[in-house]
Amino acid sequence: MIKKGKKLYEGKAKIIYATSDKNLVIQYFKDDATAFNNQKKSTIEGKGVLNNRISEHILSNLSQIGIKNHLVKRLNMREQIIKLVEIIPIEFIVRNVASGSITKRLGIEDGTVLKEPLLEYCLKDDALGDPLIAEEHIYAFDWANKKEIEKVKKMILRINDFMIGMFRGIGIKLIDFKLEFGRIKINGKTEVILADEISPDTCRLWDSITDKKLDKDRFRKDLGDLIPAYTEVAKRLGILHEQSNVTAVNVTKLSSVKKKNK
Ligand code: UDP
Repeated sequence: MIKKGKKLYEGKAKIIYATSDKNLVIQYFKDDATAFNNQKKSTIEGKGVLNNRISEHILSNLSQIGIKNHLVKRLNMREQIIKLVEIIPIEFIVRNVASGSITKRLGIEDGTVLKEPLLEYCLKDDALGDPLIAEEHIYAFDWANKKEIEKVKKMILRINDFMIGMFRGIGIKLIDFKLEFGRIKINGKTEVILADEISPDTCRLWDSITDKKLDKDRFRKDLGDLIPAYTEVAKRLGILHEQSNVTAVNVTKLSSVKKKNK
């Protein structure tokens, strides 16, 4: 049995805990939501539970098509055991349709379909606001080497193809998403594997027919109904069945009643 140890790191939406196995850590999904470089903050009850399940589903599917990633197994409603990796300090942004920051930065109309997937790199640095960088910056400052980036690019294309198809099959358009990768030693060799999470917090997901936003833009743009949207994604992925969905909603309702009574 793996025992939970001390908190190693607390991020905006997740906490990492040590375990009794030095190669494994526990990833805890919080209900906290942040946007616009931390200027907008809130707690959305139940979000962490949904992201834990959705990310587990996507990463285990990716591992079945040979994309190595950090997920070992989900432990409970909010936690999963993951392999400890050294995170490459780059956010890899994959775009199929223009939305969000690129529309403002380049004056591109929201919803413009790109003729091929566009990969952007941002430096993971909150104090600097995760600035957009060129591939050359990665090598100039040794954030990763060429071989690692070539490997990452190949993985990203496969991940994007797989995810576009997976979401299309359930009536959702994959507009864009963010990936992170980490280094890990496997049999004495350093390898790069997929890390972090893939969830409606890190993807833009639009209903195929209505273009309804089923992702964190509901929070960024104050559209409301974030939990119903994430629940819809989970339900369509086949993760939540009618019964457990009702239970999840009831749990959320119950806890908000409890809070009001405090
Ligand atoms: N994204 C993310 N974390 C970040 C920045 C972006 O998960 O720190 C995701 C975001 O949810 C969207 C995609 O990456 O699916 C592209 O985001 P964009 O660059 O448009 O940034 P934003 O509009 O959030 O400023």
